[in-house]
Amino acid sequence: MTDKPNQFLDIAVPGVTNLKPYVPGKPISELERELGITDSVKLASNENPLGCSELAKAAIQAELADVALYPDGGGVALRTALAAKHNVAPNCITLGNGSNDVLDMIARVFLAPGYESLFSQYAFAVYPISSQAVGATLNIVPAKDYGHDLEEMLNRVGEKTRVVWIANPNNPTGTWLNSEELEGFIAAVPGNVIVVVDEAYIEYVDEADYPDASLWLDKYPNLIVTRTFSKSYGLASLRVGYGLAHPDITDLLNRVRQPFNVNSMALAAALAALDDQTFIQRSVETNRQGMAQLTSAFEAMGLEYIPSVGNFVTVDLGRSAAEIDQALLRAGCITRPVANYGLPNHLRITVGLENQNSRVLAALKQALAG
Ligand SMILES: *Cc1c(COP(=O)(O)O)cnc(C)c1O
Repeated sequence: MTDKPNQFLDIAVPGVTNLKPYVPGKPISELERELGITDSVKLASNENPLGCSELAKAAIQAELADVALYPDGGGVALRTALAAKHNVAPNCITLGNGSNDVLDMIARVFLAPGYESLFSQYAFAVYPISSQAVGATLNIVPAKDYGHDLEEMLNRVGEKTRVVWIANPNNPTGTWLNSEELEGFIAAVPGNVIVVVDEAYIEYVDEADYPDASLWLDKYPNLIVTRTFSKSYGLASLRVGYGLAHPDITDLLNRVRQPFNVNSMALAAALAALDDQTFIQRSVETNRQGMAQLTSAFEAMGLEYIPSVGNFVTVDLGRSAAEIDQALLRAGCITRPVANYGLPNHLRITVGLENQNSRVLAALKQALAG
């Protein structure tokens, strides 16, 4: 693009004027073109290094025949299966083009200029983007040990607060809240404030007192839980996720939902993927081993990292991560700098397969030495 100021800035809606676009991980194809290599490793976007279930692939193949047809706008088959999985009624489920889409619907339904959107420092980047786009005021609560300071968040819930966003575990820090902390918070928030609990990484978490907030939906009608097929299910490219909430909230979300927001292949693949929990178990086990591999290497290298229960870990390089990131890219390794989150010395690394982790660790060692 250009460095000139945007000539249409004045006529854009106020929320968009100050918005910065989301920065995705660098695509493999782009790096390989730049470097003229073919064997790069991408551990930047918390994707599943095992790919996805074979059942999901077969379901995608089968859908190809009907690619000319609009998808089922109601996503009935997938919503029915998800309703059974979560033991809720189908009218508690909102399907999204990725859970990102659901987060956006929440912002459009509950936020506007004059309303406040509340979340923690280092929270997932989509919360400020979706909130700001609709003109809401951001109330960003300083983090405590990189995680949520729930006490201060509660203090800040005021008359104008409409939505509180909590990712559990959080991305990019990997920090998490236990059952008592999180439920205590939700119970204390007034019933006319929406609490979003984003459980994008729930399948990976294996701490004993880690909560599945979807089990609290009956108790707290102002609660929305979001899930995704992008992470452990390995379907990131298809874009499918969902929200679980009271039918009255679901009704409102569906008023702003685009009619055919989830495509047929995504619907079919997600449905099939739900049936392959063996794949999820294998993914979780691979992640457990890879996490141990990465963190023990960091320890050996004398690097501090933020303990993570997700499929990624954010490591403190003790110096600006920008040049190290450049050196890693030259070595064919894509990881994720998190300066945009206010963590200029950290690098977020997705847990990959053993050989991918080794490759990135070796490149990191070399970059730090050189
Ligand atoms: C990756 C991620 C998501 C998932 O986004 P999709 O749109 O479902 O791909 C949601 N929340 C958090 C915190 C994430 O890290």
